[in-house]
Amino acid sequence: MFTRRSFIKTSALATAASFVNANSIFAQKNKIRNLTGNNRMQLTYRPYNLQLKHPFTVSGYTRTTTPIVLTEITYDGVTGYGEAAMPPYLGESQASVIAFLEKINLKQFSNPFELDDILTYVDKIAINNTAAKASVDIALHDLVGKLMGQPWHALWGYTATKVPFTTFTIGIDTEDEVRKKTLETGPFKVLKVKLGVDEATDKMLINTIRSVTDKPIRVDANQGWKDKHYALKMIEWLSERKVEMIEQPLPKHNLEDMAWLTDQSPLPTFADESCQRLEDILGLQGVFSGINIKLMKCTGMREAHQMITLAKTCDLKLMIGCMTETSCAISAAAQLSPQMDFADLDGNLLITNDLFSGAKFSNGKVQLNNEPGIGVNIL
Ligand code: MG
Repeated sequence: MFTRRSFIKTSALATAASFVNANSIFAQKNKIRNLTGNNRMQLTYRPYNLQLKHPFTVSGYTRTTTPIVLTEITYDGVTGYGEAAMPPYLGESQASVIAFLEKINLKQFSNPFELDDILTYVDKIAINNTAAKASVDIALHDLVGKLMGQPWHALWGYTATKVPFTTFTIGIDTEDEVRKKTLETGPFKVLKVKLGVDEATDKMLINTIRSVTDKPIRVDANQGWKDKHYALKMIEWLSERKVEMIEQPLPKHNLEDMAWLTDQSPLPTFADESCQRLEDILGLQGVFSGINIKLMKCTGMREAHQMITLAKTCDLKLMIGCMTETSCAISAAAQLSPQMDFADLDGNLLITNDLFSGAKFSNGKVQLNNEPGIGVNIL
């Protein structure tokens, strides 16, 4: 007979049984995880070559591909994506990035939320290797954001709608090609032009662009001007042609002349090659008007976030730049862009074989989405 007493007894037994079962499943799951190491972070990586839509020339050389290394960090069934992009002039290669990543042992850390300790450890493995370090930093940020269910711009408290217009870069080319490329920049509200070859070429580039559009131009001399008086003369010429700013006019170590030039310049000056990492910023106070932060130079999102704070303290303006890279690294950089005065995030638009969807270009801006981490999905 099924009495109230036996019902309570049966229910208690059933509850106890399910409790034991749940506990034992949990214990079993943990046991399996400990045996296989699945509750530890796993870092994997592979080389990949980006194909450029147009051969790309900056002062010095031309190229049609960019080597990158793709990274993944998996924890508890969730995967974060990262990337190292290595334009050849920066000294890293797929081989050097992979050699660096092979030295990393993430199994010594309990979980990805130890992000600060993990990235401090990664930074200390060897000097330089900044793109390799960024590939770990980006994957780890993506993973942690996904585990928290929030995008990084939200975790940092940035307003997503405050992203600035981004530039589209027109490389050094013939007059006909420059005119053609300029006419293809319809959706972009601001152009970026690489100067620094010689005076005739530089002026031809600007005059050709100005013959077809009056969009604001931002100029990057890539250290191409060697003399401060010549640089000032060029900047004055540019300032009369709706140019908004000048990036790295002089060689990177020539800070004394650079301070003079910034003082005289009618346009704001920005450090790119002169500003790699956080430690460079204090020395650039009063030397440039602002700095160009790139994840591949500064080891990634953690340090870039610190650089924003320090640069603001030093009254330096801020710009976020990129290499030719997939939507993975672009979306990571975009997380910081609400804090920027200028953005130059066209790297994913210059390639034909992107592997990710993420922050998308529209209305002249790289727009943030609300997906967690860095907001990317594999295509
Ligand atoms: Mg530059």
